[in-house]
Amino acid sequence: MSTEILKLTAQIVISHASMSELTPKELVEEIRDVHNLLASLIGGEPTPAAVVEEKGAPAPAEVVKKPPVPLDDIVKDKYVLCLECGKKMRTLKAHLRKAHHLSPADYFRRYGLDPKKYPLVCREYSEQRRQLAKEKGLGERGFGRKKA
Ligand SMILES: [Zn+2]
Repeated sequence: MSTEILKLTAQIVISHASMSELTPKELVEEIRDVHNLLASLIGGEPTPAAVVEEKGAPAPAEVVKKPPVPLDDIVKDKYVLCLECGKKMRTLKAHLRKAHHLSPADYFRRYGLDPKKYPLVCREYSEQRRQLAKEKGLGERGFGRKKA
């Protein structure tokens, strides 16, 4: 690198000296100035080629679709909104499979949804199910305890 700068410095100073009368002192000063200038130019600028990184193409399958409506609006008391077609249903599971050939897992992945936060049933429906489960005692199964 510094050899390259010296060569360039010599070329510039020689071409300059050939056009104008320089005293030995001026010549020395010119050599130093040109050399410093070239060194700062070359040293101060990073080579763009070294900075550029190769980027892999994004995998299209992993792209999450942007939901067409605010996510706050998709799960309501009376209905849950289908992000594929905008239909309002009490429960989406059967609809997704029939109308869009999507499993619930596919649907959640497609829109980057959290299944716990955005269930496929409306709030009223899930509340009814919870009540029903409680009445039937399903909520307490698995603990091996029986009510007297
Ligand atoms: Zn739909």
